[in-house]
Amino acid sequence: MYDVVVIGGGPAGLSAGLYAARAKMNTLILEKDKVGGQIVITHEIANYPGCVTGANDNLASGAELVGRMKEQALSFGAELKKGNVVDVDIHSLIKTVTCKDGTTYEAKSVIVATGANPRPIGCPGEKELAGKGVSYCATCDANFYVDFEVFVIGGGDSAVEEALYLTKFARKVTVVHRRDTLRAAKSIQERAFQNPKISFLWDTVVEEIKGDGLVESIVFRNKKTGEVWEHTADEDDGTFGVFGFVGYIPSTEMFSGQIMSTSSGYFKADETMKALRADNSGECFDGVFVAGDCRAKSLMQVVTAASDGAIAATAAEKYVEEAFAGEEYTRGVA
Ligand code: FAD
Ligand code: NAP
Repeated sequence: MYDVVVIGGGPAGLSAGLYAARAKMNTLILEKDKVGGQIVITHEIANYPGCVTGANDNLASGAELVGRMKEQALSFGAELKKGNVVDVDIHSLIKTVTCKDGTTYEAKSVIVATGANPRPIGCPGEKELAGKGVSYCATCDANFYVDFEVFVIGGGDSAVEEALYLTKFARKVTVVHRRDTLRAAKSIQERAFQNPKISFLWDTVVEEIKGDGLVESIVFRNKKTGEVWEHTADEDDGTFGVFGFVGYIPSTEMFSGQIMSTSSGYFKADETMKALRADNSGECFDGVFVAGDCRAKSLMQVVTAASDGAIAATAAEKYVEEAFAGEEYTRGVA
């Protein structure tokens, strides 16, 4: 019996694990994939407090930063296990967490910190050519494009930051954005506008990605003029890269119809991260908390994910203490 099971080992889950374990809760973090979440693919974190360039030059990569988060949570006694959670009985007092391989865990509380996944560009050819020229991770795949051409689809922080990173490898980086102004933060935009390797295709969407085994051409459409054209790989290169950074889809389907969410699927919670019931009662679930990028909020960052995790764990501790105060638990409906 765990005091808390944390689902997801990204910044939100690791922070929740740290706070819960420090509060002497019997804590389990379940991660289905690589520990660290989305941020492991980024080469540089410039905006997490404490990661600074300066005298001690300790600017961290995503992998380094979450590596430290993991060690810190484990050092206080949190357990970390591989587990792809497919079901949680969130209606009962004792929550049963079920993994894909059939393993189950019982907990007095759960913190759902399942984050988000890349949204597909949504054009023909994308799926077939994923991993064959279509990528969603510059850190993973930039090396394949040394002195090649690459296209980055999207206009947010991810697209523009990853375009900047790709200029270290590719000879030319074109950012393809569906509007004529970027969504990315001004500081990131400025760096991109000043980079001679980056050019922009405004008001443009991808109609199709083509290739036999590797990406060979891409069809664009200008949304304002309606012009459609096909860009074919340079003859000597034979291929080019297409990096999709068009946002993320929250990993919340497991609780669809149970936890209240926005029309885009992000969980709704109160200020202590207690999950709201989807039945419009305005009530929260007892012992069920949500944290990080799976939660509806205005800023999706490592710092806000870590903050959510800390708040959720602190609230879970208070809940467990009160709900299970000095008595043996009885199974029942919360
Ligand atoms: P995630 O990082 O998405 O982690 C969720 C974890 O839960 C994942 O490891 C996932 O495998 C796991 N999981 C999901 N479902 C299950 C399940 N059913 N069972 C078990 N485990 C599960 N933010 C910044 O502050 N600074 C930056 O410089 C920055 N750069 C970024 C660059 C890129 C390319 C991207 C994509 C994002 C960047 N961000 C940055 C945003 C930041 O990565 C996210 O805000 C942050 O990772 C959110 O953390 P999280 O723990 O909520 O979710
Ligand atoms: P995002 O902010 O949602 O931006 C997605 C971009 O893709 C937008 O420009 C959007 O266009 C475009 N887009 C969406 N669907 C599209 C489609 N089907 N076809 C073409 N374009 C499409 O996502 P993100 O950039 O991945 O950022 C996600 C979160 O992580 C944000 O909160 C961000 O701040 C954070 N993050 C932070 C940093 C950092 O702080 N350094 C770095 C990376 C990410 P519109 O603009 O027209 O909507």
